Amino acid sequence: KAKKQGRNATQSFSHEITEKLSQRVTLRNDLQEAIDQGQFALHYQPLITRDNEVEGFEALVRWNHPSKGFISPGLFIPIAEETGQIIPLSQWVMERAARDFMSLKHLQLADDCRMAINLSPLQFHRPSFLSTLHQALETTGLAPESLELELTEGILMNDTDSAIDTLHALRGMGVSVAIDDFGTGFSSLSYLRHLPVDKIKIDRSFILDMADNDKDAAVVQGIIALAHHLDLTVVAEGVETCRQREYLTSLECDVFQGYLFARPMPLGELNQWLEAHRLTS
Ligand code: C2E
Ligand code: MG
Ligand code: MG
Ligand code: MG
Repeated sequence: KAKKQGRNATQSFSHEITEKLSQRVTLRNDLQEAIDQGQFALHYQPLITRDNEVEGFEALVRWNHPSKGFISPGLFIPIAEETGQIIPLSQWVMERAARDFMSLKHLQLADDCRMAINLSPLQFHRPSFLSTLHQALETTGLAPESLELELTEGILMNDTDSAIDTLHALRGMGVSVAIDDFGTGFSSLSYLRHLPVDKIKIDRSFILDMADNDKDAAVVQGIIALAHHLDLTVVAEGVETCRQREYLTSLECDVFQGYLFARPMPLGELNQWLEAHRLTS
């Protein structure tokens, strides 16, 4: 019986893999069409300081598939990364986000704010990365000081020296850099002090478990203390409850991002949200 169960399990396992693979192949083909036909949209999620001021927005890409509906970036970004389709997609994200930011600026809804954009490893490691970025800033008119790039620890771990050179170049341009999903990589905390970055974003998984897991709470506390010693701004991702906010405030976490404050939203909604926020703060 055990043997039979084992075989069934293996069969359903390989069935699952085949399903996943064919789903990926389909998505890969659809992705090309999506890029050509402009099926993407950007949503923006505000980042809020401890003093309840809007510090900036994170641009998050959305794919509205003509037959499958909404597809999560968690699913298609890794595929686009594998196929290289992330390059044209990222270019679109950059230009769209910059234009939208400029429109907020004109309405005086983005004073002292930054637009944060997620960078893919492929993008960051391309030799043409800096010149492409320059070009995008020129054509959109976005000031480099208004741009923040989010990159993950993984990006910085391989070929660290050249990554550090690129970070210095970004800093020289006036662009700021945040380390995204901090704490999920395999890097040691001490490597942070060698990196010319401005900000770290503590991964949502730590924030989620903080209240009932002493170890996660200790990690969060440790990250904030270390980051402050290094003069880095700390953002908590995925803040959903008042309790999380209170605890993070007691640790002097600088900035919050999460559903408690606002969900990612299209530009029109962000406009209204910012108007309303301005009246209440
Ligand atoms: P990320 O950069 O860590 O973005 C934060 C994710 O957390 C977003 O998921 C956001 O919607 C979600 N989030 C924010 N607050 C909360 C909360 O309070 N609770 C919960 N449960 N979730 C919250 P999203 O939009 O699905 O994006 C997933 C990931 O896809 C992003 O993670 C980022 O790594 C990637 N991504 C999104 N847009 C882009 C893009 O334009 N370019 C690249 N290269 N990657 C992108
Ligand atoms: Mg991010
Ligand atoms: Mg993140
Ligand atoms: Mg994340």
